[in-house]
Amino acid sequence: MTVLIAGGGIGGLTLALSLNQIGVSAKVFESVAELRPLGVGINVLPHAVRELIELGLLDRLDEAGVRTKELAYFSKHGKPIWSEPRGLEAGYKWPQFSIHRGVLQQILLDTAVARLGQENILTSHHLTGWEETADGIRATFIDKATGRNADTYDGTLLIACDGIHSAIREKLYPQEGPPIWNGRILWRGITDADAFLSGRTMIMAGHEILKFVCYPISKQPDASGKHRINWIAERHMPPTYQWRREDYNRTAKREEFLPWFESWRFDWLDVPALIRNCPHAYEYPLVDRDPLGRWTFGRVTLLGDAAHPMYPIGSNGASQAILDARVLTREILTHGETHQALSAYEAERRPATTDLVMLNRRNGPEQVMQLVEERAPNGYEVVTDVLSQQELEDIAANYKRVAGFQVDALNAKPPIVPRASAA
Ligand SMILES: Cc1cc2nc3c(=O)[nH]c(=O)nc-3n(C[C@H](O)[C@H](O)[C@H](O)COP(=O)(O)OP(=O)(O)OC[C@H]3O[C@@H](n4cnc5c(N)ncnc54)[C@H](O)[C@@H]3O)c2cc1C
Repeated sequence: MTVLIAGGGIGGLTLALSLNQIGVSAKVFESVAELRPLGVGINVLPHAVRELIELGLLDRLDEAGVRTKELAYFSKHGKPIWSEPRGLEAGYKWPQFSIHRGVLQQILLDTAVARLGQENILTSHHLTGWEETADGIRATFIDKATGRNADTYDGTLLIACDGIHSAIREKLYPQEGPPIWNGRILWRGITDADAFLSGRTMIMAGHEILKFVCYPISKQPDASGKHRINWIAERHMPPTYQWRREDYNRTAKREEFLPWFESWRFDWLDVPALIRNCPHAYEYPLVDRDPLGRWTFGRVTLLGDAAHPMYPIGSNGASQAILDARVLTREILTHGETHQALSAYEAERRPATTDLVMLNRRNGPEQVMQLVEERAPNGYEVVTDVLSQQELEDIAANYKRVAGFQVDALNAKPPIVPRASAA
């Protein structure tokens, strides 16, 4: 029988590849007619990269992404607060990648089509409902573009990988309503620009009210020597602000946010120039959902953003979806295509991701930037005048512990899906 996967995003495609790795048949049902490389840059952390390497994708990641070397925090004046090595430079056995989200999705898609066959990766299939049958589950789909029924399919399990607006979650929790906006708006874009700092550094500057994040997502410069620099400008808006529903493809108006960053010209980065030279920027309200008390109902469970949408703080959105997929695969290997497998998966992943959703609401490791702003809004000579070395180290270490990417612990762990099980 076949595991039915609703959603062909990062989580759904990783799950399909993982099940294929252990010899379990899977079928992906994606709502849109054509998966195009949408989104901007994301980071995939070493513990999730490790899983993609287990799926044989390292070469593709290396072709398409940048091995992030360092994460550095700065004040709104461009003064250093804290920096730490990332990926291999931090001692992990696996790199961290900065990569275009759509390109990562395309890598997963190409590989899934090659390994599972095109007939098992169905587009224009938007899940609308399901029912349990005597020995499995039957799911119903429509073609959203035409409204036409796209048939029903039988399987052993139904996994909701259908993102932050999950139709399955909505049916399980009809009272929940839309995602929760926390008052902040993100403007995101990619600009061809000069490399900065190490050339592989991810930076965050500012504080809770106004923040700028950027990092390169192309390894090689183009013919004019420019790199693709992914950036995110973020501002806490007044409560009266009329925010627009989250949509990853909503075009942003530069004049609405550029003025706040006009003075952010550091000797190592020209923030307003990055914003000004971006051909197309997007606007997105920062939203998440409250953690759920239960993901698994009979033969159905939630995975990735359908289960635990979180603020994109600490680079965890895609990474956690990948980990979900791998743990679920291991449990299916152990318990078969059963409710027990889903429960065992949930028992591990729900508490872990709940902690992360809550920690991200408290700004995760970015707390250091707010502390500096509160203690020295007019600037400082050296950061240790305002924040002790111990405070800096504690905040970084705590986040790594909760997010599950402590160097030694991770390096010592066996792979999530045992290698001998690969089909
Ligand atoms: C178009 C798009 C652009 C994004 N851009 C960014 C970005 O720039 N930065 C960032 O941090 N995060 C971005 N994200 C979110 C990021 O991909 C996720 O946070 C993370 O990868 C978790 O992956 P996921 O598989 O759970 O969800 P997603 O990657 O969101 O995938 C969910 C998939 O399910 C499909 N789907 C939805 N409803 C149904 C249904 N009823 N039936 C079948 N399929 C359905 C969607 O079309 C989508 O392909 C984007 C998501 C999307 C869909």
